[in-house]
Amino acid sequence: MILDGSALSKTLREEVAEATRGSGVKPGLATILVGDDPASFSYVGSKQRACERAGFKAEDVRLPGQTTQAELEDVIQGLNARDDIHGVLVQQPLPKQIDTEVIVASVDPDKDVDGFHPVNLGRLMRGDRGFLPCTPFGITRLLSSAGISVSGKNVVIVGRSLLVGKPLALMFLAKMGQGGGLQDTGDATVTVCHSRTCDLPAVTLGADILVCAIGIPEFVRADMVREGATVVDVGINRVDDSTKPRGYRLVGDVMYDEVAEKAGAITPVPGGVGPMTVTMLLYNTLQSARKLYSQDPL
Ligand code: NAD
Repeated sequence: MILDGSALSKTLREEVAEATRGSGVKPGLATILVGDDPASFSYVGSKQRACERAGFKAEDVRLPGQTTQAELEDVIQGLNARDDIHGVLVQQPLPKQIDTEVIVASVDPDKDVDGFHPVNLGRLMRGDRGFLPCTPFGITRLLSSAGISVSGKNVVIVGRSLLVGKPLALMFLAKMGQGGGLQDTGDATVTVCHSRTCDLPAVTLGADILVCAIGIPEFVRADMVREGATVVDVGINRVDDSTKPRGYRLVGDVMYDEVAEKAGAITPVPGGVGPMTVTMLLYNTLQSARKLYSQDPL
């Protein structure tokens, strides 16, 4: 089974647009881009377009690369105070003169639709309601919509980043449907692996569900995957390819062709986890406009 994130995103974005029309509020998302990193430029553009299609207000804040810490904090405070803005997203990476941790913490936790604020990560850790980080949230939706339950399963996550691996581990570990836990995801037995894990294949071969968030092109091979396992590939890596007009192609962290032969279900790259991330950002922004959190039904 191919876990098609593009198709599911289309359906969920229609649901978000529908719920927006019925909500009586116009959700507003402000994206802040500092500098001119081309990849960030393209990510922010796709978030803005998705917002507009869903009927949101999309406020596009672009600041020069030499913006100071104090100037950026002022912009964020201004957006925190506005009633028509329900989500504030600061695109990373930030230029080196900026302290990213301070900036992340300066966003109002109740407008932190990215789910990276220490308060929201704390809520997740404690099992309280809050905003869930979009990529892990999207992964849980992709699995549950395919009828793949993690309850009682051995889930192995390769990668311990704050963006993906750590919050996803907490979401899979949460008591399903209680407190900060999602209605349809949780109660798994979770193992998190990283660059210092000894004998990685011995661990990954025990996975009923294997999530790869490593950032190394096609690192996970078929001999690391159990027959019939579900494989979620979070990686988005550019590899040179002179046959492509842009001179590169996108591949995941998983050697797709060989692993797909063995897996019971797998996400493609592109078209798997990637589109779900933007979709859950829309979802969180709508919930914020309705004074709700990620765990609340639309
Ligand atoms: P990161 O660099 O912050 O973390 C990578 C993790 O992989 C680290 O925890 C590290 O310990 C682990 N790792 C590195 N080498 C390893 C090895 N040899 N064996 C085992 N573990 C190893 O990366 P990240 O931000 O979590 O992103 C990971 C990948 O996911 C990247 O390709 C990134 O582009 C992609 N990503 C995609 C989305 C999306 O929307 N689909 C969102 C975020 C990140």
